[in-house]
Amino acid sequence: MDTLVSLSKRRGFIFQSSEIYGGTGSCWDYGPLGVELKQNIKRVWWRDYIQQRPDMVGLDASILMHPTVWKASGHVDNFTDPMVDCLECRRRFRADKVDETPWVHYCAATKGNKFTIPAGEPCSHCGERRTLCPDCGKGSLTAPRQFNLMFKTFMGPVEEDASLTYLRPETAQGIFVNFDNVAQSMRRKLPFGVGQIGKAFRNEITPGNFIFRTREFEQMEIEYFVNPRDTVEGKPADEYWHERWIADSLAWFQRYGLREENLRLREHEKDELAHYAKRTADVEYRFPIGWSELMGIANRTDFDLKQHAQFSGKALTYFDEERKEHVVPYVIEPSAGVDRALLAFLADAYQEEEVRGEKRVVLRFHPELAPVKVAVLPLLKKRDDVVRTAHAIRATLAKHWTVVYDDTAAIGRLYRRQDEVGTPYCVTVDVQTVGDSDKGESADGKVTIRDRDSMEQARVPIDTLPAVFLDLLSGGKWSAVASRFR
Ligand SMILES: [Zn+2]
Ligand SMILES: [Zn+2]
Repeated sequence: MDTLVSLSKRRGFIFQSSEIYGGTGSCWDYGPLGVELKQNIKRVWWRDYIQQRPDMVGLDASILMHPTVWKASGHVDNFTDPMVDCLECRRRFRADKVDETPWVHYCAATKGNKFTIPAGEPCSHCGERRTLCPDCGKGSLTAPRQFNLMFKTFMGPVEEDASLTYLRPETAQGIFVNFDNVAQSMRRKLPFGVGQIGKAFRNEITPGNFIFRTREFEQMEIEYFVNPRDTVEGKPADEYWHERWIADSLAWFQRYGLREENLRLREHEKDELAHYAKRTADVEYRFPIGWSELMGIANRTDFDLKQHAQFSGKALTYFDEERKEHVVPYVIEPSAGVDRALLAFLADAYQEEEVRGEKRVVLRFHPELAPVKVAVLPLLKKRDDVVRTAHAIRATLAKHWTVVYDDTAAIGRLYRRQDEVGTPYCVTVDVQTVGDSDKGESADGKVTIRDRDSMEQARVPIDTLPAVFLDLLSGGKWSAVASRFR
């Protein structure tokens, strides 16, 4: 993880938020390459799930919602963690995590000397176990109290309870409250889904592990509505679609580069299921911190629509033409975190290898996710015509893709830099490209393309570059493309 954090900072993927002020707890800023990577993840997700499927539409609901939404959803009452406070230093801990950190102990058996003892272990001098605050070692802790994880804020100029609202802790509720708007305006028949990408906020007590758990994060969520009275392939429709979405979700992450051996499925036990869920399966990824949740796929039943119907007094039902009756749809929710997905793609792409006795760091991003698609590099920056040609190529390709120009080092180092940020292809402009009139050599109008993964090169006419990269960046194999130019 430390390697990824330092690469992310050094190469402009991810910076600590407000770093010059000492940073903000668990908030991170996406730098110039990070924002490209993140946008690419969101773009392929939207394209694959919203644009290409006839049964899906998109939505962008506001972050601030009517406060009753969160009463209806159960978040005001249930979205809590048990907390304890130190009466001395006032620090706050999650009651169930307080013994997961090393603790400070003033040992009576050794004249009150101060020790820091490993998490969960007793003092080796007096045998006592922790009872006081683990941080200061002096204060006693309060009994556990429920602490709500929603960020509170005030709507309008008056800070009073009547104007209290919350930053949404999930994007899902924006879809539920718009169920009828979407179904009516888009004339939808069940089953259909609504997808949304947006920020959500949770006041986590113990955030951490880089961008794995943060207080502000981005979600890619789908609510897929089905008619619970329908049967598909001998199964209730909700169970059938739940299976389909689990399989689709696993396949999606593999399609964009996560290795099969780093992915697994974990079923929630009956006692860990959320209060609304009939069944939940997590897609877990083998992060640098160990196997952890990458996304969840829950069967939320008709809980949310029924709750909102009850609290708002508006019917949120669907008219089943076949049976001539109103039903409350069941909903399957594939919910993924953008930041977590980005961390997984970054971790899986990272490789160190040895090339001619030197270490090469390479991010083997899927071409569609790579922040920069092509780097244009002049072999001789002293030659005006070489530099001019390189800039012109960059400008042409930049109409279609994110392309950079770099002439700030020798070619070997420029290649390494692009490998390290996962740029799939480099284009090199040299003297042969533009010709050398002093030596009577004419221009060949060709450039060298280098493939990141194989490090092979091919010499290609400049005017074919847009077509060649369209092929390569939309799934064309390097070997097939390169063989056309031999
Ligand atoms: Zn304390
Ligand atoms: Zn002791």
